[in-house]
This record gives sequence, C-alpha cells and structure tokens, in this order.
Amino acid sequence: MILTSRDGQCSSGAMLSTVYSPRERTLRALKAWAICWMLALLSLPIIGLHWFLVPGFSVAGVVLGVQRYRMREASRELNGRCVLCGKEFSLALEPNERAPLWKYCPHCQAALCVEAA
Ligand SMILES: [Zn+2]
Repeated sequence: MILTSRDGQCSSGAMLSTVYSPRERTLRALKAWAICWMLALLSLPIIGLHWFLVPGFSVAGVVLGVQRYRMREASRELNGRCVLCGKEFSLALEPNERAPLWKYCPHCQAALCVEAA
C-alpha cells in the first residue's frame, strides 16, 4: 500500500485482510441466513408487528446471505507510518473498505490517501 498526503509526500503501509475460502463463504452466508430466518420465526407471535418483521427478516436473510457469499475478502487493519508526523499507526478497517480510500492519521489528523502499490 502507498500512503500519500495532500501535498504529495509518500510512505508505505500494509493492509491486513482475511481471505475467505469458498467453504468459509458458504458457511458465513448460511449463518447469516439462518439467523435472519430464526428472527423471523421468533417474531411470528408478536401480534401487529409480525406483518412487517416476518417478511422483513425473510428477505433480509436472502439478501445478507448473498452479500456474505460474494464477499471474498474482508479488510481488517491498516498499518503504516504517517507521511507528515512520521509516527507509526494502526487503524481498524471496515470489512468492505478497499483501496483507494482516505484515512486520517490518529496522531496529527493528516489526511492520507491509501492506494494499492
Ligand atoms: Zn500523522
């Protein structure tokens, strides 16, 4: 990964991510699906709300399952050295964050552009 500040200085960093095997992707998808459908079943006895909750969770199960199956890689962490203040930092990333993206140095708040090397 290459970290670039607004004025064009560069440094290098590393992005850690988890790569899912096809089996893990299937299991993750089934788990999300099962949880949603369980919630749909549990909301059956809630009179009134069950008109919305049951179809809502049923659809969400399918959507989340497909989404999770498609996710081949989940970002976890970005490690690097700030271009401006020179300090090492480690930032947690959302699973769906991909380069290129902008991050702020936790020490000096400098905006850093993260790009694939
Ligand atoms: Zn900094």
